[in-house]
Amino acid sequence: MLVGYYVMGQQARPVGERTPAERQALALEQGSRIHPQYPVEFEHAFSVAWHRVAWSYGSWATFSAEARKDVYPLLIKPQGRLYLAGDHVTYWNAWMQGAFQSARQVATAIHTRVGQERPHRGAAVRPLRSLSLS
Ligand SMILES: Cc1cc2nc3c(=O)[nH]c(=O)nc-3n(C[C@H](O)[C@H](O)[C@H](O)COP(=O)(O)OP(=O)(O)OC[C@H]3O[C@@H](n4cnc5c(N)ncnc54)[C@H](O)[C@@H]3O)c2cc1C
Repeated sequence: MLVGYYVMGQQARPVGERTPAERQALALEQGSRIHPQYPVEFEHAFSVAWHRVAWSYGSWATFSAEARKDVYPLLIKPQGRLYLAGDHVTYWNAWMQGAFQSARQVATAIHTRVGQERPHRGAAVRPLRSLSLS
């Protein structure tokens, strides 16, 4: 498998506006300048224009310096039982590393909270149905 192209920002728009078949043709045309065997060896292609995906309308979130200061601290705090987790609530936006880091932090925070709210002897991990966050 080979990544045919990976465009972002405003450069991605004209590519994303094309049909999948047109994007495939573009990738083959551009790629064959480097790998002349491209058109012969090619089998299948798949592409996603993230700004056209319903409920997404974009690829990933980044923060302006201002939002990082004002909004980010609020997003990483739980509100009642609601915890946000994902690369979008880390300094590793758009990276799996951020997703893992956030998942671990949130799971740890919930685990700690449950332990404090309902001290419990015995099993180290409580069954999910006994979670009682308010
Ligand atoms: C275009 C693009 C390129 C990327 N390139 C890279 C890269 O090169 N390297 C890298 O490290 N990272 C990359 N990333 C980032 C990486 O994909 C994310 O960091 C990672 O997928 C986040 O993992 P996650 O499990 O937190 O969330 P997701 O992978 O988004 O998983 C969340 C899941 O929850 C499901 N879901 C949502 N709502 C509900 C609901 N109500 N009920 C049930 N299920 C629900 C969704 O369908 C989805 O399957 C890229 C992301 C994009 C968009």
